[in-house]
Amino acid sequence: MSDKAVAVIGAGPAGLFASRELANNGVEVFLFNRDIKPGGLAEYGIYPDKHRLKASLRNIYFAILENQRIHYFGNLHIGNHRDITLQQIKELGFNAILVTAGAQQVKRTGLEGEDLKGIYHAWEVVSNYNLLPPYSQRSYPIGKKVVIVGVGNVMTDVARFLITKLRVDEVTAIARRGPAEVKFHQTEFAEIATNLDIQDFERELDCVSPLMRSLGQDPEQARAFFEKACENCKETGSDTRLRLLFLKAPIRFVGNENNWVSKLVVVENTLVYKNRNIKPVPLSSKDILKVDTVILALGSSVDSQLGLPTAGYKFNMSPVPSYPINNHSHEVFDPGRKENIEGIFVAGWSRLASYGLVGISGRDGVSGARAVQQYIIDNGKQCTVSVKQCREKILSLKNTIVEFPQLLRLMEVEKERALKMGLEEYKFSTNQEMLTAIDLI
Ligand SMILES: Cc1cc2nc3c(=O)[nH]c(=O)nc-3n(C[C@H](O)[C@H](O)[C@H](O)COP(=O)(O)OP(=O)(O)OC[C@H]3O[C@@H](n4cnc5c(N)ncnc54)[C@H](O)[C@@H]3O)c2cc1C
Repeated sequence: MSDKAVAVIGAGPAGLFASRELANNGVEVFLFNRDIKPGGLAEYGIYPDKHRLKASLRNIYFAILENQRIHYFGNLHIGNHRDITLQQIKELGFNAILVTAGAQQVKRTGLEGEDLKGIYHAWEVVSNYNLLPPYSQRSYPIGKKVVIVGVGNVMTDVARFLITKLRVDEVTAIARRGPAEVKFHQTEFAEIATNLDIQDFERELDCVSPLMRSLGQDPEQARAFFEKACENCKETGSDTRLRLLFLKAPIRFVGNENNWVSKLVVVENTLVYKNRNIKPVPLSSKDILKVDTVILALGSSVDSQLGLPTAGYKFNMSPVPSYPINNHSHEVFDPGRKENIEGIFVAGWSRLASYGLVGISGRDGVSGARAVQQYIIDNGKQCTVSVKQCREKILSLKNTIVEFPQLLRLMEVEKERALKMGLEEYKFSTNQEMLTAIDLI
């Protein structure tokens, strides 16, 4: 066996590509994953109807896990007050730890009324429709008039779900900035463009055009972007009215007598150049939108319970890394000790805090693995534990840890079910069902 062993925390795209990079360089990889299944948001975030994309990613990920140097431990949650702490992982004697646990916390708005019923974070809704336990077991009642706050690709996914699956009456996406700053891709918007209320959109565009021109933006270019999406639009089979409202930011949620959200108060924004970037600045005028449900699609933040210092939505990344890769830091700075935390690296959405598609995350995982490799070569220490000992210690933590052979069995059982039921795909929605299917409980 190799004399180097690394713990990788999180088996999403970043953790899987990092594991492959390390294993191909002779390192034993212990890959720990909170979910039973690998894939992270590629499994539980990407829209369920993207069957081909999801299936091809799954094939790639399972091929990576075939590597004899990669030891997969699913259903193991790492962090404070969880199955095992980061410190305890460290004490197992690895040469280094790479954290690729994604960005697992929702961003709160801090606005009055945020905890009213009927206000959800997109993360919850996405995890629910993608059948990620425990969100898959919770209920998120959604009314007929829905506002989504945010205009990224997650907004288009959630709107697609509301339009095609729930067929709500109205979906309104609100943006703090203008049409030139939307973050979604044209191809993603094409999935819902059939439902866009064109006249309403034209009115919005006319309203914001003078401001856009004053900033040197071309409203016609923005119009062309949306027209192209509409040309390539898909049939949704739904009458849902889709609206896009620009230059509006939520400032307060108002509830009815049952504590359900009923109104969203928004402030009108203008845009100004600040340090060569376009920034929204609130004006004094306000507007009230009647709503049944609000979904906040504002991105996510890293996990503050993992055991690493955070700064805002991110881990407290070191500005002066000892092992920079492509000028990026994969190291975390401890503000208490005023030094980089030795032997722990971060990559993927754990570093980028919910930025980028699977390709970017996978590549960032590889960069993180390269930083780890440089560190372990420099550091020169031998691993203090054998694969056998380490595996035994981990398996003694709880008896429902899922290893690769059981994972293969689980996928087989799900495939058999799909075949029997004539479905493209079948997915168990609870850990209980998955563990029962592979005889772990
Ligand atoms: C709604 C949505 C839709 C998307 N659609 C697309 C798309 O269509 N195409 C595309 O290319 N990209 C898409 N993306 C982006 C893509 O999913 C991400 O780029 C990618 O999954 C991030 O990879 P990651 O490995 O950094 O994190 P994640 O995918 O979040 O993986 C993190 C992994 O870490 C594990 N984990 C978390 N915490 C712990 C812990 N404490 N202990 C142990 N394990 C832990 C989790 O179980 C998970 O397996 C989408 C993202 C979202 C949110």
